Amino acid sequence: MRTKQVYFDCGVCNMRKIGIMGGTFDPIHNGHLRVAEEVRQALGLDEVIFMPAGNPVLKQDRDVTSAQDRFAMCLLATADNPHFSVSDSEIKRAGITYTVDTILELHKLHPAAKLFFIVGTDAAEFFHKWRGHQQILENCQLVVVARNGDEKPARDCVCGDFHWVEITQLDISSTQIRQHMVDGKSIKYLVPDGVREYINKQGLYKGQVANLSTLLAIELSRPRYNHSLEVMKEALALGRHYNADEATLKKLEIAGLLHDCAKNMCEELPYNEIEEVCNRSGYPLPDFFRKVPILAHGYMGAVLAKRVYGIDDPEISSAISCHTFGKPNMSFLEKVIYLADFIEPTRPESRARATARELAYKNIDKAMIFVLELIINRNKSLGRDIYPKSQQALDYLEEHDGS
Ligand code: ATP
Ligand code: MG
Repeated sequence: MRTKQVYFDCGVCNMRKIGIMGGTFDPIHNGHLRVAEEVRQALGLDEVIFMPAGNPVLKQDRDVTSAQDRFAMCLLATADNPHFSVSDSEIKRAGITYTVDTILELHKLHPAAKLFFIVGTDAAEFFHKWRGHQQILENCQLVVVARNGDEKPARDCVCGDFHWVEITQLDISSTQIRQHMVDGKSIKYLVPDGVREYINKQGLYKGQVANLSTLLAIELSRPRYNHSLEVMKEALALGRHYNADEATLKKLEIAGLLHDCAKNMCEELPYNEIEEVCNRSGYPLPDFFRKVPILAHGYMGAVLAKRVYGIDDPEISSAISCHTFGKPNMSFLEKVIYLADFIEPTRPESRARATARELAYKNIDKAMIFVLELIINRNKSLGRDIYPKSQQALDYLEEHDGS
């Protein structure tokens, strides 16, 4: 299916000249559009077909946005140019897509047309490694444009002759646009307005944490949601302070954000219902929780993290499940979430909290001992039962010297 047909009679050879812009277009941006427009003018092409890849062979290392979304964005981006059209022939093809199959297909469809396959220097650099590159050159002419001020490639690099078209250098990439979205930065003037609106409306490229927090904001009360964001930030700050690696930081971010995801639910639903769900989900609630039902929100949080938020990482689940009372031999992740929950800056300020915060950034085990002792003593003085795991957590740390 092609979105527009552009018929043109060149008057001399009666042969249409068709440019093909292949790419992942995840998303399509003004760099792509300007390349197509300038090459079309320079070579007198009648039309340029944008061909979003289905399952691109060169992008197997990351999750590519759905073909439908990428196709829709190409349509929006090219709608106002009568010389541009979008083809869905690659996205309809099953399996990994190769350019050579596309060129052969187009050649069959337009036997009398001259085909021009347009690539940037970054793509041209590896052209000699593309499957069927010789066949591509036999069936179309290659057009190379500079990217980021690159030099014209050697003829050998692309295994034959090619057109070199000088174009305005626009340092724009889809990678940069996706990153801007994750960082919450504007993408205005990098993509056409219609594409920007589509990205925002469909919630594309927001990143896992942003998507989780959108869901969480619906689930939790405003103060509880704000507290969750603060715990997430504090956990990240502690993680960075202790030079945690990227994978641990990501886990801290998610566990911090979701640690209380079941808190409101546990306050609202009858305990029996919570108990039933936890029992069925592999988190049987200890009998002790009947005396202090709110302790169940950690276990229920781990259940919701998996079922509702799709987080099925045992380390994250464990940090969520024990964040209120601790346990013996806690991991770094578990300790950081426990402490971040206590010291995050929107908690009411007190001398004890200030000391806990100071200790947390000096010695994480000493901070754990301090906070566990504080909470155990506070509960004892109020005549409340102490959940044995808290005492065990404290005993373990003291036995292991808290260093
Ligand atoms: P990503 O960052 O995800 O790799 P991209 O911006 O490189 O995305 P692609 O869809 O990979 O976009 O590129 C399709 C084609 O467009 C490639 O041939 C590429 O070289 C070319 N191209 C993309 N952006 C530019 C640009 N700013 N200037 C020149 N050519 C470009
Ligand atoms: Mg690219």
